[in-house]
Amino acid sequence: KHLNAFLFINEQQALEMAEESDKRVKNGTARAIEGMIIAIKDNISTKDIPTTCGSKILQNYLPVYNATVIDKIIEAGGIIIGKTNMDEFAMGSSNETSYFGKVLNPHNNECVPGGSSGGSAVAVSAGLCHAALGSDTGGSIRQPAGFCGNVGLKPTYGRVSRYGLVAFASSLDQIGIFAADIPNCSILLDVITGKDELDSTTANYTATNTLNNLDFDYTEYKIGIIPESELSGCDSDVLEVYKNCLKKIEENGGKLIEIKFDFPEAWIPTYYILATAEASSNLARFDGVKYGFRSEKTESEMMTATRSEGFGTEVKRRIMLGTFVLSSGYYDAYYKKAQQVRRIIYNNYEDIFKQCDAVFLPATPTKAFKIGEKADDPVSMYLSDLFTVSSNIAGIPSIAIKAGKSIDNLPIGMQLQTSHFEEDKLLKFANYFESIFG
Ligand code: GLN
Repeated sequence: KHLNAFLFINEQQALEMAEESDKRVKNGTARAIEGMIIAIKDNISTKDIPTTCGSKILQNYLPVYNATVIDKIIEAGGIIIGKTNMDEFAMGSSNETSYFGKVLNPHNNECVPGGSSGGSAVAVSAGLCHAALGSDTGGSIRQPAGFCGNVGLKPTYGRVSRYGLVAFASSLDQIGIFAADIPNCSILLDVITGKDELDSTTANYTATNTLNNLDFDYTEYKIGIIPESELSGCDSDVLEVYKNCLKKIEENGGKLIEIKFDFPEAWIPTYYILATAEASSNLARFDGVKYGFRSEKTESEMMTATRSEGFGTEVKRRIMLGTFVLSSGYYDAYYKKAQQVRRIIYNNYEDIFKQCDAVFLPATPTKAFKIGEKADDPVSMYLSDLFTVSSNIAGIPSIAIKAGKSIDNLPIGMQLQTSHFEEDKLLKFANYFESIFG
């Protein structure tokens, strides 16, 4: 309980679901993930179960429908154990911006678990569930997975339905998975993927079938790495683990080739312009009229007061920044330019995946940092996403895996990326790498 990972425990319903599960196991009708205990980030809608997005503005909000992923989990025999804490509206990299208090890293309670899906990462890492769902707009699954020593998968944009995910930046958001290992991640991915009539951005593919295809001869494939000189933003602990991993890959017959990202320095600025622009528009719906919290004021002052009192500082910062980059005087200089740079980043990945099958990178430039360390320095907080935002910008799948530990025993994660809709290959690599990184 002291970790503050959960905002709601679905006690009664979970027990009922478990009983149903037991019955199905006994009578031989067990389903794909029968009895799997799954925690859900609190920005994914659950019918009649609070869905707060870690915000005061949705404190008392009860959705009237389930997100598609929730229906799929229930149909496949999964048990929803509760809703997990998160940075407010999924904006953050440390889980310190939740209205309901910070979340602690189980490996060292003085450190952050990462964010924004920190509660889900901690729930898996502390053994409170078998797997958890999170959302990843710029790294919010992979970064906390790295900090907490889990597997964290962000699927291809369009692979998993976003119906029922409270939108932060719709062109970047994707629901994904935390698990202790690759098979647990795979089995859940195969349940939640597939075309959904309720989300027109889902791709026209049936569900993945990764679990039964995890084995492969990886020596046939090429792994792209960037020159060490381009990892100068990384802490020595992370570099150490990174180099050690490259050594293990080579010892096991892996083929490493050097690749080049064209403008990696543009990733973070592009992300924070696009994400805040979309957020400022998406969050306009929280006005005290339709959902949740409403300030007690006269009618004309109500909307301003609701938003002023209901949103936290970071969310307000993003709304203002996003409104600014979309304003008529600055649209061309910021938003339009960021869209153009997005295309360049996308094209760069297309070229890279002609040269190699997967890209291998650190998940984060640092290990888990101390609570409060970056809380007053948004730019340094934003740099936590240095290696993760490019996959969201390009829409490709990527995964953080356990790769080693720092001298002070904190987990350090590495990241793999493949081309669009190549989750299959991504998980094969990840499964193999986990076995050799031990
Ligand atoms: N940390 C990033 C941000 O604050 C990413 C968030 C996310 O992926 N939801 O925007």
